[in-house]
Amino acid sequence: MITSKKLIDIENKYGAHNYKPLDVVLTKGSGIWVEDVEGKKYMDFLAAYSAVNQGHCHPRLVKVLHEQSARLALTSRAFRNDQLPLLAKELCELTGFEMMLPMNSGAEAVETAIKAARKWGYTVKGVEKNKAEIIVCDGNFHGRTITIISFSSEEQYRDGFGPLTPGFTMIPYGDIESLKKAINENTVAFLVEPIQGESGVVLPKEGFLREAAETCKQNNVLLIADEIQSGLGRTGMLFAYEHENVKPDMVIIGKALSGGMYPVSAVISSREVLGVFNPGDHGSTYGGNPVACAVAREALTIILDEKLIERSAELGKYLIGELRKIDSPHVDFYRGKGLWIGIVLTKAAGGARRFCEALQERGILAKETHENVIRIAPPLVITKEEIDQALVTIKAVLTQN
Ligand SMILES: *Cc1c(COP(=O)(O)O)cnc(C)c1O
Repeated sequence: MITSKKLIDIENKYGAHNYKPLDVVLTKGSGIWVEDVEGKKYMDFLAAYSAVNQGHCHPRLVKVLHEQSARLALTSRAFRNDQLPLLAKELCELTGFEMMLPMNSGAEAVETAIKAARKWGYTVKGVEKNKAEIIVCDGNFHGRTITIISFSSEEQYRDGFGPLTPGFTMIPYGDIESLKKAINENTVAFLVEPIQGESGVVLPKEGFLREAAETCKQNNVLLIADEIQSGLGRTGMLFAYEHENVKPDMVIIGKALSGGMYPVSAVISSREVLGVFNPGDHGSTYGGNPVACAVAREALTIILDEKLIERSAELGKYLIGELRKIDSPHVDFYRGKGLWIGIVLTKAAGGARRFCEALQERGILAKETHENVIRIAPPLVITKEEIDQALVTIKAVLTQN
């Protein structure tokens, strides 16, 4: 048998070093559980950044992937297939939007939303050619393409990758006055994560999204919600924006749209906005392929059938309540919504990485974000018993290290 150590050496030699993963080499997964090549079992408390909300290797997704890939996998959009229309209809009916545009990765869907917003600005709002501006937030994460990193506030994401794409203005996250000030006649959109995931599960002040939606409406600016990580049940609602009772003009989804089975993303919006695309304006060879669409249809149905949204709300409330009872000198505070929790450590704690390594040692895989936050985001299929089991370990790690 090839050992973890050997596989890590091979990866380090032949794979580019653009990640710093925990040194655990996984080979199997089922539900919230994953197993490394030595046979050690772990609870997955990251869920592939919320792509695996439905749990690893969900049997229904495995079945659909098998069946659809054996029937028809890819036609390109030069021809039609029998899965795309059904995904489009089901997704629009579920979310209350009029149209969808399918892509593959999250970043591609963000790019699609940016293109739609700009073209809407020129053709509908009447912005002068090549003058469109989009407002974004400090601490954002929307992906890794050149255009997207151009408006990242993370120095490392941009450094060495210029020249960058112009046309973006940054405001502090959650600051409504700054949003109002930043809007001008060329502003076409405000792109925002309702809760910032990569920043460490950061919630804006209550009411911010509602006020932002009103401000956008008054100024004929599109509100674009990036729900790639926060959407599809993670926060205890289908979408995180529902906590504030708003309806964005465009919503970007990905990750859990396929339950971790396949890269599928989409932009959902109105006919007015997505209607700006004419044949030839935009596309993707794999976007909307039958395997992607069949898997996404099943992944959405699983969320509903297994009541994953309700589970996230209930169990999330329970988990954060129990975490708050842990008396640890290292924890500053806990924040989160649903089964999406940031454990914010004190400055003196010495960073979140060593706690994640201690958790790994004891059979829980979690990932630090931004040095001092441990992000807790298990698959939404987790049971209360499994949460109780995890709490024993988390408590030990937070109090004994
Ligand atoms: C993961 C993520 C993306 C990028 O998705 P990829 O599939 O990695 O390209 C964009 N926005 C948010 C909020 C994300 O969490």
